[in-house]
Amino acid sequence: MTSFKEFTDVCKEIEGISSSLEITAVVSSLLRRISEGDDPDTELSIVSRFVMGKVFPDWSAVELGVGPSLLYESISRTAGVPVRQIKQLIRETGDVGEAAKVALEKGAAESQTTQTTFLDFTDAGGAGGSGGEERDGDGEGGGGGSGADGRLTIVEVFGRMLSIAQASGKGSQQIKIKNLQYLFGTASPGESRYIARIVLEELRIGVGEGIVRNAIAQAFGEDVGAVERSYMLINDLGEVAVTAFHHDLEQVSIRIGRPIKMMLAQIGGFGDVTGGYAAEWKFDGARVQIHKDGDDVRIFSRRLEDVTKSLPDVVNLIKSQVTANQAILDGEVVATGPDGKPLAFQEIMRRFRRKYKVSAMAEKIPLHLNLFDIMYLDGDALIDDALHLRRERLESVVRPHARLRAAEQVVTDDPGVAHAVYQAALDAGHEGIMLKNPDSVYSPGKRGKNWLKIKPIMETLDLVVVGADWGEGRRANLIGSYMLACYDPDTAEFLEIGRVGTGITDEQLSELTNLFSQYIISEEGRAIELQPAVVFEIAYEEIQKSPHYASGYALRFPRLVRVRFDKTPEDADSIERVGMLAGG
Ligand code: AMP
Repeated sequence: MTSFKEFTDVCKEIEGISSSLEITAVVSSLLRRISEGDDPDTELSIVSRFVMGKVFPDWSAVELGVGPSLLYESISRTAGVPVRQIKQLIRETGDVGEAAKVALEKGAAESQTTQTTFLDFTDAGGAGGSGGEERDGDGEGGGGGSGADGRLTIVEVFGRMLSIAQASGKGSQQIKIKNLQYLFGTASPGESRYIARIVLEELRIGVGEGIVRNAIAQAFGEDVGAVERSYMLINDLGEVAVTAFHHDLEQVSIRIGRPIKMMLAQIGGFGDVTGGYAAEWKFDGARVQIHKDGDDVRIFSRRLEDVTKSLPDVVNLIKSQVTANQAILDGEVVATGPDGKPLAFQEIMRRFRRKYKVSAMAEKIPLHLNLFDIMYLDGDALIDDALHLRRERLESVVRPHARLRAAEQVVTDDPGVAHAVYQAALDAGHEGIMLKNPDSVYSPGKRGKNWLKIKPIMETLDLVVVGADWGEGRRANLIGSYMLACYDPDTAEFLEIGRVGTGITDEQLSELTNLFSQYIISEEGRAIELQPAVVFEIAYEEIQKSPHYASGYALRFPRLVRVRFDKTPEDADSIERVGMLAGG
């Protein structure tokens, strides 16, 4: 049994490393050590996710369901430190993990003087269990502090997290708190630091999918491409690690019910159609991947989260209009307004996120489904077939309906024809067109030239930087994201419009940190208030109305294009221009 401490030691080590290659080597050697233990399958599967800060795969319907207040309450009860002090610690350290560690150390120090021990709580409803001992004291004065290094195993931590996730209905909050108390009470403060971060999905030690994929390949002497392929097909690096350990990657294939990574598009131009491309509208909606297995229909979002429950109308459409018994389909749902034009993206997101009164919402915001691909049909994986063959299969199983159809396709090598399709798409309120190579295979998770997108070029915005956040983990000394604002010439105020953290290279990060150090007005936790001095040119996908920011707008997918050293803050774009670009 591998101890949880072995895992947290590795996390600590990684936090001190900046090179991805070195981090990969550390993760790989952890995986190798685990594979030599007595329960490699279970432990590899857990650790490969833990190290990315995940407990369950994204597509899994199982979720921890622990928000900050439940976590603070659990730490408070364990440490005997009031919640408000924990919140204060979080403000001071900017890190929930560090706050948990400090609080639990404090609790431990105090409990030594009051002789309280935590050993009475070792059965607080572990894996599969429920309830458990009630802690005496619920905050101040009841503190028992924390446990000792190395008492918890990785499997036990996961088991408790599973119990937390499975707790539902009446009394579930108490079960969650008790399991967390058990974990914090048994772990040492240093281990608790990582438990708190994992529970809130904020591990942030700089290990992402790419590193874990490479580490798995390295640990078990497998080809990175083979590991990647399996991951694209089954979407769980835990399972991929186990499969790689058994040298079984070749056997991995598409499975109905398990989302595969979506094929992506890169930017193209009309000249690209020479040679023959299939032009389709680029619908202004949200991507969905649908798995039909008889009457069992599951729908996954672009992030491969299971959104089936929020979309019963789409489920019914699939059941009645798709004649295949088993199929995996790719498409875009569009919400349309009374004028037949697509509604803004956030309206669709309201449908996707809806958990209660789903059918009322379905009536309010009806969805139309445009199917454009099929990856599996009645026992056959189709991803290695050419698009034009998949297209035939798709059409053969879709019975068109007012709200469901196979997206229209025009195959052409004439840029003028492609342009006409593009214009029609824009006139109908959609985003532009997709150009697809009719001979191409379906490449899960790949952004390549087989799928090209053409959209009108968005004008950029010049915005003033008014605040920022320090980064985390190995980027703690660098500013990680910037708060942007537009200008209101009437009031001479800078009105916030959102943050940007992408489009910034590692090199730029440190240059920008240096640049901004002279403009820092104040700091609180990780948040920095900046004197408005620097203007960023920002590209974005869309401007949306938003109550969150003083400007009343927010940017979707903002990206730094360049620093406009030539502009003063007052030269930044005005709120009026933002409103105009947003469409009124
Ligand atoms: P982008 O998000 O700008 O990279 O563009 C790719 C996205 O366009 C896909 O993920 C889909 O959500 C969306 N899309 C809309 N219509 C189509 C289509 N006909 N084929 C493929 N993707 C489409």
